[in-house]
Amino acid sequence: MVSEYLEPLAAHPALAPIVNYGHRVTKVTRVQPQGKGVGRTRSQGREDSLFLVRIETATGTEDVLGRAVIDASGTWNTPNPVGRSGIEAIGEIEAKVAGFITSPLPDPMGADQDRFVENEDITLLENVSVSSVVVGEQLTVHLADGRLLRLDLVVPATGFRPDLKPLTELRLDLDQIVEAPRALGPLIDSEFHSCGTVTAHGERVLAHPEPNFYVVGMKSCGRAPTFLLATGYEQVRSIAAYLAGDRAAADLVELQLPESGVCSTDLADSCCGTSNPGNIGFATGTLHGHAELVSAQKSCGSA
Ligand SMILES: Cc1cc2nc3c(=O)[nH]c(=O)nc-3n(C[C@H](O)[C@H](O)[C@H](O)COP(=O)(O)OP(=O)(O)OC[C@H]3O[C@@H](n4cnc5c(N)ncnc54)[C@H](O)[C@@H]3O)c2cc1C
Repeated sequence: MVSEYLEPLAAHPALAPIVNYGHRVTKVTRVQPQGKGVGRTRSQGREDSLFLVRIETATGTEDVLGRAVIDASGTWNTPNPVGRSGIEAIGEIEAKVAGFITSPLPDPMGADQDRFVENEDITLLENVSVSSVVVGEQLTVHLADGRLLRLDLVVPATGFRPDLKPLTELRLDLDQIVEAPRALGPLIDSEFHSCGTVTAHGERVLAHPEPNFYVVGMKSCGRAPTFLLATGYEQVRSIAAYLAGDRAAADLVELQLPESGVCSTDLADSCCGTSNPGNIGFATGTLHGHAELVSAQKSCGSA
């Protein structure tokens, strides 16, 4: 993925001079070209205003101006908590600080090797609700069903959610359930969809009341896990066409996804929950989700 796709793309002569590394966006708002502020509550002059993007770099804080903003920051940095019903278990934050709870996908063969001592005693817990954890020599985990576990390390697989804090000065229209753009929410809700049943969508579906602002990629799906790279390529192509003034190209959205079923949940019937997970994976990244995967595709409801 990195050597065959990301690195060659970043080295492309059209992109290389304008890609900045080590820049972390902390806030996005709007200002008029003359510099006057246009916060979230100000409607006058909003249409003609620019975006102001605040960035942290190794050399300090910078504000940069732009005509459009596409937020492709993913959801990796904001995993769901281990606690039940979307909030942390009592003691969870302290347990993380103390090193008892890892990041969602640690690297046991690499950077996180030290934390994974040789231990054959691994317990896989599914569908459990953690009510509280207590840091001690080991981590004491109280489950909501009354069970009590003593563990050395917890590796959570609790999913992700979007970090919307940098965007609070923008006018966003979000689905109340998954925190995706409102029109996209019903197309991706993992109670009813897997990655492979997400409908092709582009600029119109991803638009917010804030003109020229878009969230794409994994973050566009909000809390839903139903995103594949191929979906993102088509999102970005459509938005780029719109920003370049080509409405027709922006509206011509095409996407063929493998029906993997791996991103669905068992909370409701998923029409594509039974096909082979082996059909997804790297292929959707390196082949852009087209051609080679079509043969493996079955359409929803036709099985
Ligand atoms: C375990 C797992 C396996 C997956 N496997 C597949 C698969 O096989 N095939 C597939 O198609 N999809 C897969 N996906 C889904 C999805 O395609 C990937 O999550 C993909 O990496 C999402 O791409 P992205 O560009 O939206 O986000 P990311 O890959 O997360 O990239 C976001 C980037 O933004 C940066 N960033 C974050 N915050 C800021 C900020 N404030 N300022 C500046 N930069 C910031 C991050 O450092 C990161 O480099 C998988 C997802 C997971 C979790």
